[in-house]
Amino acid sequence: MEALLKINDEKCIACYACVRACPVKAIRVSSEKEKPEIIPERCIGCGSCVAACGPGAIDIRDSREALKKLLKNKQRVAALVDPSIAGEFPDITDYRKFVQMLRTLGFDLVHEVSFGADLVARAYSALFDQSRGKFYIMTNDPVTVDYIRKYKPSLLPNLAPLLPPAAATAGVVRKISGNDTRMVYISPLIASKNEILGFEGESSIDLAITFVELRDLFSEAGIHETDLEYSDFDEPLGYKGSFFPLANGIIQAAGISEELPDSKVITIEGKGIIEGIDEFEESVSTIKCHFNLYYKEFLMGRGTSLGGKRYLRRSHLIKYVNKRFKTLDMDSWRSAMERFSEMDLSRDFKADDQSLTLPPPERIQQILKELDKEGESNLGCGACGYASCRDFATAIAQGLAIPEMCNTFAIRNRQDHIRSLKISNEKLAQTQEALRKSERIAQREKEAAREATEIVRRMLHKLPSMVVICDQNLKILQTNHSFIELLGEEASEINEVVPGLAGADLKTLLPYHFYNLFTYVLTHNESITNRDINFEDKILNVSIFVIEKEKIVGAVIRDMSAPEVQKEEVVKRLTEVIDKNLGLVQQIGFILGEGASETERMLNSIIESYKSRRDLKEE
Ligand code: SF4
Ligand code: SF4
Repeated sequence: MEALLKINDEKCIACYACVRACPVKAIRVSSEKEKPEIIPERCIGCGSCVAACGPGAIDIRDSREALKKLLKNKQRVAALVDPSIAGEFPDITDYRKFVQMLRTLGFDLVHEVSFGADLVARAYSALFDQSRGKFYIMTNDPVTVDYIRKYKPSLLPNLAPLLPPAAATAGVVRKISGNDTRMVYISPLIASKNEILGFEGESSIDLAITFVELRDLFSEAGIHETDLEYSDFDEPLGYKGSFFPLANGIIQAAGISEELPDSKVITIEGKGIIEGIDEFEESVSTIKCHFNLYYKEFLMGRGTSLGGKRYLRRSHLIKYVNKRFKTLDMDSWRSAMERFSEMDLSRDFKADDQSLTLPPPERIQQILKELDKEGESNLGCGACGYASCRDFATAIAQGLAIPEMCNTFAIRNRQDHIRSLKISNEKLAQTQEALRKSERIAQREKEAAREATEIVRRMLHKLPSMVVICDQNLKILQTNHSFIELLGEEASEINEVVPGLAGADLKTLLPYHFYNLFTYVLTHNESITNRDINFEDKILNVSIFVIEKEKIVGAVIRDMSAPEVQKEEVVKRLTEVIDKNLGLVQQIGFILGEGASETERMLNSIIESYKSRRDLKEE
């Protein structure tokens, strides 16, 4: 079954007014969920949260569709009308028009609950007369009954074991019209929607709808009193039970004295019933009274329209009852009371204990410390909805509340938050400035690197030697004009489209024995220097060296057939011959004396004369 009440997250503004209003803390606020949620098992259907919620974010289980379905059914359907209608529908000039409106809506029978209230009132009178020192809590108010079942189950034996008027009326109507008659209770309380689930047998009720829902259904069906004839309630009609919507109405109907000092019944109405139940539990043996409790007088129940005036409704009720009294046939009433005198009005109650385990004192102490409420355990502003800071800390430990519900905690947190936001903002500004600086430096470095690359690129092109740099896949990264010239015209043409042959595959440009030297250097990470190789009709002197291990290699290549290289190479190699043989020459000189020195002089003169010829030619 759908929960009786549900918070609509779309409408809820998380003001927690409902949490503060709930007398049994059935509304949980958790850090996982931004909006509060009603715990159906803990809810007693008092409707205080609905009244407290400004944005109207609490939805009540809707019974209108279920009623329409029931009325379409072929079975007979009886409306059991609470006398509070007089307070809710003063706009309907005569109650008999109201009865006809219900018949027009589709009800086959329309009974007022006041006759059931008369039977129940008589049963209370008898119960109290025979109570023999036992004191009872009256059970006409479903909110009170649910409160005791859930939060004071030890008092179940003190709940008066009597049906409420609506269930008693259902029993009467079934006896008259048959067991297959379906019953709909038209109630001023939303709690009735859950209460009826507990009635069985001939007292069972199929559906409860509120006055507010009934108004909607009249309006939806276009039913107005002006178009209708008069029609009275189906018999049996009630008598003083019609005062039942007033807190002490049932006492009056039962003829129980309320005169002091003899009165044996204390009537409490409003949230004070919780305190009353506590006192009953503690001191009933001294108080020696039965308790008649109403969380809310039925006239003002949450199933009535919001904004109704209590005493105005009361006067409407009294006028309505007086009007009915004028036409009531007392003999018929007495005979009906006699007819149903043996009817079973008993009921029992099942405990549904919802009390929570108390957290360990150290945990509560720790929470109070976090709230900065140590030493204030018995005081509190009440803004969180709990009677004291200790109760609030207990609720936090039980998972029903969060610290942010405490105003002072929230304000302090907000100030801390603002402070930390300020600090974060300052840090952010500093970081942004540092970032801007780094960006400027990086930009300058990038510019310098770009310039350096350009210089290197230009230098490479000016070099007479051939230069090529390639990656591990032998794709060209950089090269120079001399190398491109070596490769021939086709390479020069490609160079015009792709400057520096960037990305070209060395394997397609050079023969295997040539590019394999690059592969060797890449795989062995070992440079090759001064290797002479044949390339077309040239002898090339190749040096390949590692720039980045296994990734990038570079080569300097000289054309040994070029005249300037030839001369340079002859000088270089002669010098090498002299250097290499110098030790040997010295040894020979040591052995041969002057002869060896002469040999060295001769060789040196060859070199010098060669050098001077070259210099002259260059000049
Ligand atoms: S109906 Fe009453 S008990 Fe239920 S959540 Fe609302 S205030 Fe709490
Ligand atoms: S009172 Fe209404 S709006 Fe405020 S928290 Fe409760 S449900 Fe949401």
